[in-house]
Amino acid sequence: MQQGDTISAIATPQGEGGIGVIRISGEHALKTADKVFRAKNGKPLVMAGSHRAVYGHIVDEAGKVIDEALALVMLAPHSYTVEDVVELQCHGGLMTLRKTLELTWKAGARPAERGEFTKRAFLNGRLDLSEAQAVMDIIQARTETSLTMAAGHLTGHFSKEIQSMRHDVLGMIAHIEAAIDFPEDEVDDILTYDIEKNVVEIRNKIANLLKTAHAGRILRDGLLTAIIGKPNVGKSSLLNSLLREERAIVTDVPGTTRDSIEEYADVGGIPLRIIDTAGIRATDDVVERIGVEKARSYVKEASLILALFDASRPLDSEDAEILKLVRGRDAILLLNKDDLAAVVTPAMLQERAGKDVTVITISTRTQDGLADLTNAITAKVYAGTQAGQEGTFVTDARQAEILRQADEHLEASIRTIEASMGLDFISIDLRSAWEKLGELTGETVGEDIINEIFSKFCIGK
Ligand code: GDP
Ligand code: ZN
Repeated sequence: MQQGDTISAIATPQGEGGIGVIRISGEHALKTADKVFRAKNGKPLVMAGSHRAVYGHIVDEAGKVIDEALALVMLAPHSYTVEDVVELQCHGGLMTLRKTLELTWKAGARPAERGEFTKRAFLNGRLDLSEAQAVMDIIQARTETSLTMAAGHLTGHFSKEIQSMRHDVLGMIAHIEAAIDFPEDEVDDILTYDIEKNVVEIRNKIANLLKTAHAGRILRDGLLTAIIGKPNVGKSSLLNSLLREERAIVTDVPGTTRDSIEEYADVGGIPLRIIDTAGIRATDDVVERIGVEKARSYVKEASLILALFDASRPLDSEDAEILKLVRGRDAILLLNKDDLAAVVTPAMLQERAGKDVTVITISTRTQDGLADLTNAITAKVYAGTQAGQEGTFVTDARQAEILRQADEHLEASIRTIEASMGLDFISIDLRSAWEKLGELTGETVGEDIINEIFSKFCIGK
């Protein structure tokens, strides 16, 4: 196997930490590391053997000690990139890591591009494209469910499904080509009958995968959620309950949540990206108005709206405005302060909102009803989703689009069969479907797309 030129980067977050890791990969990874790392035992890393940790020091050109470090040697092909890799575990300081990184450049490595280590793992065939993309999703996962989904992708659940479909399509193409070489009319009829049956099966699989796309995208990117309601209705308290932490400031003065804040909350495994918006009300206060304007625009952007109402105060014109704002939107109405004497009942709110709207009674003080809220949210997210095979989800828009296009080619093949247009034409449709599906695993995808996908990674990954 040919190794790429030698690249290096800081692989851990920039900041202070117990340890920080410099990753070096490529043809001269060991030689490069040997110029910046001096083993305590005096032996060069080239002689250390694979999968060994060697204790020593980072030293500059003059031999001055920069840091104490552990060098991890992983020889090709048994490494993340499938190339020779050395990881230098230094102390996690900004200065030591930058200095050490610079030394690796002086020693012959060049700065790694975004996602270049993972890209090499892909180009060297250790990960396919969907698996490589899953690496990023694992890093960014915000709930355990999201992590499980990403890990499933990384270990090939999604790829295996795609590969099995491609395998089936290729099998049909092979049969067709054999039949073209040895033409016999009755055989053709049996063959096209079988092909049609197979194609329908594959199309069903694609349809099921596409049904996971809605939930898959939310599990990966989060569900943009706006909490709205008039001042003092309990928006910040709800946010805190969902976050289970005291992060937002709760006060008794109406309209003090002026700046919207955004937080991630794990609600039944769904990562909610919550915007706590300012109380929506007519006001002369400029700061407050900016908050309200923002709130309106967030409501427009939000995929889910949690609209709060106060059970202990009569519904007023501000509540009416909130009800107007959520009309026709994906919203859950929450009747809060259930622990107090109620003047508003769920039935009253339901009547005002319409019978199709979900109304849930809660108390952010006693946490009553919050489990119902969690259930309502997960039900909404998973609505129409068939349980994916082994937790297989379609996670990004590109994957969904490719599946739809592959399905169009399969649909075309059925039309071709039904129009009795001949085996050649069926073969062309199937080949197009086969190539499309290959874009998911990266087997039939152009370099520009590969570059674009990896450019979204961070440096060092
Ligand atoms: P916001 O202005 O909508 O963000 O409302 P806050 O979350 O700041 O709450 C306003 C006031 O209502 C605070 O004094 C909270 O303690 C109180 N509050 C919030 N939720 C409840 C509840 O469920 N029951 C009771 N009794 N008080 C609540
Ligand atoms: Zn508030």
